[in-house]
Amino acid sequence: MNIAKVIVDVPARQTDRAFDYLIPEDYYGLVQPGVRVIVPFGPRSLQGFVVGVESSSNVEKLKAITQLLDIEPILNEELLQLGKWVTEQTLSYQISSFQAMLPAALKAKYEKEVELIKPEQLSFMPVTLQKLFQQSLTVSWGNIENEPGLMKSIQKEIGNGNVEVNYVVKARGKKKTHKVLFFNSTNEEARTLLDTMSSQAARQKEVIEFFLDKQIKEVPRITLKNELSTTDSPIKALIEKGILTEKDKEIYRDPHANREFKRTQPLPLTEEQSNAIIPILHSIEHNQHQTYLLYGVTGSGKTEVYLQSIEEVLKKGQQAIVLVPEISLTPQMVERFKGRFGSSVAVLHSGLSIGEKYDEWRKIYRKEVNVVVGARSAVFAPFENLGIIIIDEEHESSYKQEENPRYHARDVAIYRGSFHQCPVVLGSATPTLETFARAKKGLYELLPLSKRMHDKGMPAVDIVDMREELREGNRSMFSSLLFEKLQDRLEKKEQTVLFLNRRGYSTFIMCRDCGFVVTCPECDISLTYHRSQQLVKCHYCGYEEPVVKQCPSCQSDHIRFFGTGTQKVEEEIGKLLPEARIIRMDVDTTSRKGSHEKLLTAFGEGKADILLGTQMIAKGLDFPRVTLVGVLTADTMLHLPDFRSSEKTFQLLTQVSGRAGRHELPGEVVIQTYTPEHYSVELASQHNYQDFYLREMGIRKLHQYPPFFYVTLITVSHPEITKVVAVTEKISTYLRSNLSSQTIVLGPAASPIPRIKNRYRYQCMIKYKDEPQLRSYLKDLMDHYQKEMQQELQITIDMNPYMIM
Ligand code: ADP
Ligand code: ZN
Ligand code: ZN
Repeated sequence: MNIAKVIVDVPARQTDRAFDYLIPEDYYGLVQPGVRVIVPFGPRSLQGFVVGVESSSNVEKLKAITQLLDIEPILNEELLQLGKWVTEQTLSYQISSFQAMLPAALKAKYEKEVELIKPEQLSFMPVTLQKLFQQSLTVSWGNIENEPGLMKSIQKEIGNGNVEVNYVVKARGKKKTHKVLFFNSTNEEARTLLDTMSSQAARQKEVIEFFLDKQIKEVPRITLKNELSTTDSPIKALIEKGILTEKDKEIYRDPHANREFKRTQPLPLTEEQSNAIIPILHSIEHNQHQTYLLYGVTGSGKTEVYLQSIEEVLKKGQQAIVLVPEISLTPQMVERFKGRFGSSVAVLHSGLSIGEKYDEWRKIYRKEVNVVVGARSAVFAPFENLGIIIIDEEHESSYKQEENPRYHARDVAIYRGSFHQCPVVLGSATPTLETFARAKKGLYELLPLSKRMHDKGMPAVDIVDMREELREGNRSMFSSLLFEKLQDRLEKKEQTVLFLNRRGYSTFIMCRDCGFVVTCPECDISLTYHRSQQLVKCHYCGYEEPVVKQCPSCQSDHIRFFGTGTQKVEEEIGKLLPEARIIRMDVDTTSRKGSHEKLLTAFGEGKADILLGTQMIAKGLDFPRVTLVGVLTADTMLHLPDFRSSEKTFQLLTQVSGRAGRHELPGEVVIQTYTPEHYSVELASQHNYQDFYLREMGIRKLHQYPPFFYVTLITVSHPEITKVVAVTEKISTYLRSNLSSQTIVLGPAASPIPRIKNRYRYQCMIKYKDEPQLRSYLKDLMDHYQKEMQQELQITIDMNPYMIM
């Protein structure tokens, strides 16, 4: 077993396979699947992942591994397998998949050190280790990296739980340390000692008894002093006697460390909740893999079902992953999990620094926690005995990664659920059509929660037709109804959330008089305005026409492209209601770390009357004093050139409406729109998912979109437009001639954003029901363009696009 199979860190087609390397004799037993190594590769030295160890190779002259970076595998067998699967599914590179599973601290070269965590065991360790840790509990990796013998001893002690390897992320400032006291005697030794100590040493006795009573071997000095209200002198005396040792120890950079989480108890479940949880508990108990759709309106008690399912999993000694969308990873959400499970919860989200993220990951890796609550990438948490995976708000598009590997967390969750034979629970009030269709077919089990807790009804929703407002001479961005209600809340000292939906590029053309939107005759998708050419274009099929000056429907000349910013809204409120205190949340005001949280806390404390923001305020927020929610323009997302635009609009409006009236005070919602008759708007205002589902399924079927067809999107980009068009044309032709006749290949068409950073972008969309060979055709294409892709040409393939940009 002296050959290692290594995936090297060169994300490219021709290097996307395992290369064979010789394992130097000294490293036998140390090099194992899942460790990282440094290997010579051409003239360079590269990092790589060992994916297998074998006894022979077909290659004659093998080069040897030059350095070992890990003593223990950082990817276990399951994750190595999963990495391969993700690579295959997303047509990514293996190295990219492996790196996607690990915290950033492990990707780059950070300083590493070896730490003795049980100093009292040192005397039983080999002399080489005793020498190594003579001076300090931590020694830098440099002391051992060329010493395979030492590495083996360390590997053994890692196995015994006495030593560990840490990555030191020198982010801002130094790592945090505190003074820790270690108790060096066995219990018997200590008891004998107590008997022989003189009565003057009462304080010292207390300290020894403290360790004995609590059955602990170490304690922070400050904790000991506080608990015994003692001074430094007895501690010093015991250190001098060799009974205690004091060392500096790193403390975790726990972002929630300063917060107290009030512990909560499981609530008695309602009948609906009980019915929903029984099948989940059954799967947990019998180690059965099943995907559930917990379909419940906002406030119907889904989270309580998650919490009690997790409790069962923990009782079995297993672990749980909970995914929540990035933007709803609010302190409120974290509190609910920490409140129930305390310090056994790790939290992973993008607001953490590299060091903090690594600390949280390490708690999982070391099995110091058994619940992780996190955004998308937490689905890769290195738990080895998973008992449940929960995806809250499963319809959220942030579960799809928009760079390589372009995976969807839901697919990964189901893969891991099947590996671990455990349930996967998808929760949503507005599931994606794909998920709901699977539940209806019986592929997932549907668990409905139809009622809101505490008999709270859904808030009343008013739809305001902004075309009417215009006709009546109101050119402001506020309808008279919304303005009245705003004033009313200001007087009553209640709070308002104002929501401006401004995702994407507001470049669709709409008539302000009748709400008519210019759409593609072939695709039923709004056309995108290209200012420079004065054209509107379809980004799916390439159809284009000149910009109209008059509305084709009502002949009005109030037809124009759309867009409003949060800043503009803030200014307008300032003019109309100068006394109102506003908190604005958008990318500009929340780019600094922690600002998101700060703004929300300020709003929660009543420091503002109005919270104004983009979709980042749509979810998870739960403020008792919010009694009015206003949506300024419901239409902006409706007309994005995306077949999911109606679905996204429905989901968002439903979410936003759910923000009002969650507590004692009843809530109201005002939705302003130019297309009140659109089924997304109308059905969202009635909280009617079922009818929306049926309507939208009809449209998807008619236009051959998911869940009836699969969609793959190929985007080509290059600085020269002729090149882009030619390549996209060739790709389309190649696919058309190879794929089945039922498959639809659209394009070449310019991408909705046709040029980014001086690179032109074209796309080709494949819609298919069954193409078992598709992935291999696409790989052939990538192979064909490989040389050019090392220069200016870029080709990206998305096997399940959520952004058609
Ligand atoms: P969802 O996750 O579906 O939006 P939540 O779990 O947040 O709903 O529940 C809404 C509110 O109802 C929360 O304040 C929660 O504490 C409360 N709640 C949930 N289940 C129960 C229960 N069985 N008994 C009493 N209150 C409950
Ligand atoms: Zn079209
Ligand atoms: Zn019109």
